[in-house]
Amino acid sequence: MNLTDSIQYLKGVGPKAVENFHKLGIFTVQDLLLYFPFRYEDFASRGVFELLDGEKATIIGTVVTPANVQYYGFKRNRLSFKIKQGESIVAVSFFNQPYLADKVEVGTEIAVYGKWELAKQQLLGMKVVGQVDSGFEPVYHLTAGLKQTQLVKAIQQVFNDGVLEDLQENLPDYLLEKYRLINRQEAVHAMHFPEDMEQHKQALRRVKFEELFFFQLKLQALKNKEKSGREGLLIKFQQNEIDDKMRELPFELTNAQKSALNEILSDMKSPYHMNRLLQGDVGSGKTVVASLAMYAACLANFQAAIMVPTEILARQHFANLQQLFPELKISLLVSGLKAVERRQILSDLASGHTHMIVGTHALIQDGVDFYNLGLVITDEQHRFGVNQRKILREKGQNPDVLMMTATPIPRTLAITAFGDMDVSIIDELPKGRQPITTRWVKHEQLSEVLKWIQTELLHDAQVYFISPLIEESEVLDLKNAEALYAELKAYFGAFAHIGLLHGKMKNEEKEQIMQEFKSAKLDILVSTTVIEVGVDVPNATIMVIMDADRFGLSQLHQLRGRVGRGVKKSYAILVANPKSDSGKQRMKIMTQTQNGFVLAEEDLKMRGSGEIFGVRQSGIPEFLVADLVNDYNILEVARQEAVAVFKTADEPVHRWLIAQVEVGGGFD
Ligand code: ADP
Ligand code: MG
Repeated sequence: MNLTDSIQYLKGVGPKAVENFHKLGIFTVQDLLLYFPFRYEDFASRGVFELLDGEKATIIGTVVTPANVQYYGFKRNRLSFKIKQGESIVAVSFFNQPYLADKVEVGTEIAVYGKWELAKQQLLGMKVVGQVDSGFEPVYHLTAGLKQTQLVKAIQQVFNDGVLEDLQENLPDYLLEKYRLINRQEAVHAMHFPEDMEQHKQALRRVKFEELFFFQLKLQALKNKEKSGREGLLIKFQQNEIDDKMRELPFELTNAQKSALNEILSDMKSPYHMNRLLQGDVGSGKTVVASLAMYAACLANFQAAIMVPTEILARQHFANLQQLFPELKISLLVSGLKAVERRQILSDLASGHTHMIVGTHALIQDGVDFYNLGLVITDEQHRFGVNQRKILREKGQNPDVLMMTATPIPRTLAITAFGDMDVSIIDELPKGRQPITTRWVKHEQLSEVLKWIQTELLHDAQVYFISPLIEESEVLDLKNAEALYAELKAYFGAFAHIGLLHGKMKNEEKEQIMQEFKSAKLDILVSTTVIEVGVDVPNATIMVIMDADRFGLSQLHQLRGRVGRGVKKSYAILVANPKSDSGKQRMKIMTQTQNGFVLAEEDLKMRGSGEIFGVRQSGIPEFLVADLVNDYNILEVARQEAVAVFKTADEPVHRWLIAQVEVGGGFD
């Protein structure tokens, strides 16, 4: 037998089974060896005194009464006997397995696996365990038509054949020694048939390291390739022109903004191909940094594009850019433009007339062609799929790429999903910002909140009300928003001007409402979550979120980030009567911290990595054995070692490792 042999040559594996194995991704003998169980049944015997009610365990004892089979009804029966373990007498019952009576012999020892019923001092037997196979039994993920025993037999066959000897070690000795990892063959065997818990632990540690290390090697390989292999653009601009522009700003950049901008600019003017992630908490001022980077591209006679997830945001960026760069030709491309308008924009873009363009998904459609695209920025990148970002990038000849995110990404995810990118972080809010006071109130307290808002309105406060979210139903969302709008209108009467914003509105209507709110013609804006990302109205200071427990932590954080953008004191009011513990916990965490990174870590712990951005979307791979939440330490070490491999890439063992992960394309 060879590792590369097809599993169809195994004894007992017929054509049907082969098909089922294929469904599990098992084609060769090696695949089978590396198909690890996801848990183990623990058959190690236990003392009855230590068992909890309902616990499953194996107990060993001496049979003290003969087996008695009682039949009742058609086909139903119960076999019972007693065993003695130490000083305890334990009743054992099996339902509908009368044939087991043969194994029960007074005076001999027997091992029974079953469920402990404390009150009755009885073990509800599930199987009689042979002394030999006591210990751990693997449990595998299966597919319909394939049985546990079939899989186990096939794997046992492979081990019995000794082909495991051919499985090559794939971690260098220095790593095995440094982290005291067991060797690959030993680990693979112990993953399937561990002798005890400790051996299993060691095996798991080794295979997790292996998985994460090779994943990180792959990311590093990609990163290196981006940097050296591909030729990037040389974007030549005069730094003093950037400095002049910075002086024209109504504020001074924070130190964090300055250093992020410097990192971006030095990438741009180098021949490297920039592939950078800009992380900054809500309100940290990423837009201005992005704008200056776009300016640098234009100074070097390249075009720059920024893609954003919503039209409201696109218009906001467009207005900002126009104000900042009146000397440049800036276009806005969104869906639903008049045909003439759109044609003009596209032709200006293709002829190189346009310097900068802001757009929504409309930017990545066919027919949108650039003259010489030098810089591509995606704002709120997590709202776009991997492919959408790629399409935009491919509209130029290897343009520099900057992705921005206001949903701080926990470090674990950042180094997995974005490990192939360079990262800049803005970890400082502009001067003068006051912390947002966050309060969690119950629905019953809403009238008090409204009273308080009324007095705040007297002091020119502007208020957002976010209506409850009904998942996957825009119709119900709208109904909720309309109901809330009507309620508030009735409550405040002539006292306040109230506007309504929701996803079903026409774009011009949305834009008009936003403008009215911005110019303070409206005091209160009732909205569905369409305003979740990016909207910037510094004068708004109160954010009320209805049924806040329906939202996830990062969404709540985004929503709250709509206030606290100016110098005035801001408040977030979470109105919720959460039923679940996790809902309550989320409300509490929100009132305790305003730090997006802390919240992101909490979110990761509460929900697991897959759900945060959606695994597919983000490019975070699904791991077989490793778990991003719990294996953070291994991940971090694996990353350091992978980076080290590329630092001394010429060493033979490193050359071998790199050859293992040489890849054609990227993840992105
Ligand atoms: P975000 O990082 O969430 O996208 P924005 O770029 O929208 O944040 O900036 C939030 C607000 O802060 C805007 O009104 C912006 O003009 C303002 N701002 C940005 N940088 C500074 C700064 N250095 N000092 C004062 N205000 C700033
Ligand atoms: Mg923003």
